[in-house]
Amino acid sequence: MLDVKKIRLILELREAGISDTKILSAIEKIPREKFIPENFRNQAYDNLALPIGDNQTISQPFVVAKMTQLLEIHQNHKILEIGTGSGYQSAILSKLARRVYTIERIKNLLIKAEKVFEDLKISNIVAKYADGNLGWKEQIPFDRIIITAATNKISKEISSQIHEGGIIVSPMVNNNKQIIIKYTKINNVLKSEIFDDVLFVPNLSGTE
Ligand code: SAH
Repeated sequence: MLDVKKIRLILELREAGISDTKILSAIEKIPREKFIPENFRNQAYDNLALPIGDNQTISQPFVVAKMTQLLEIHQNHKILEIGTGSGYQSAILSKLARRVYTIERIKNLLIKAEKVFEDLKISNIVAKYADGNLGWKEQIPFDRIIITAATNKISKEISSQIHEGGIIVSPMVNNNKQIIIKYTKINNVLKSEIFDDVLFVPNLSGTE
């Protein structure tokens, strides 16, 4: 049953403009149901955000695919993710890049996500419990940064930890709406391009 739904989801993503076959194949390979609480598993391949506990959500597959596509990942890239949540987005990135560094501010979620990475034998994700807006200075510079919580402003730490030519993709709060913005660092300045409207949980400071 999940397999039929998975094929339907992949077709839906293709129709919605996800043309990168590596991303579609990562979505096919990573079992999204493992990142979702049992009572929602029958909806794992619906194109929906779902609750993961602690008032947080796993993002909608289309949004995961779209943000991943905007990142233009190469297999030798080192990626930073802010907002591990369920770990699903990190797992998708782990199939496309050399290494993924992911930061989560809610300890309980981080522990659960790390357990799923272990179960799936994913060994190129490094996760830590911290406020992601501070970045991960021991691992700089990053080729790509993805923020998966609605952000008001890219912190100075984040903008300084991305490589020249690197890309940051984040949902940004804009007049009571949220939009995906892709920033490219050119001559040390972030140039922005606007994409889809989205709905993410907020990016919060500190840890809990
Ligand atoms: N990428 C996740 C999306 C989870 S929702 C997934 O695939 O499931 C966003 C997550 O960002 C939540 O778990 C929330 O706790 C976390 N978050 C919000 N602000 C953060 C911050 N400043 N640093 C680290 N994590 C943050």
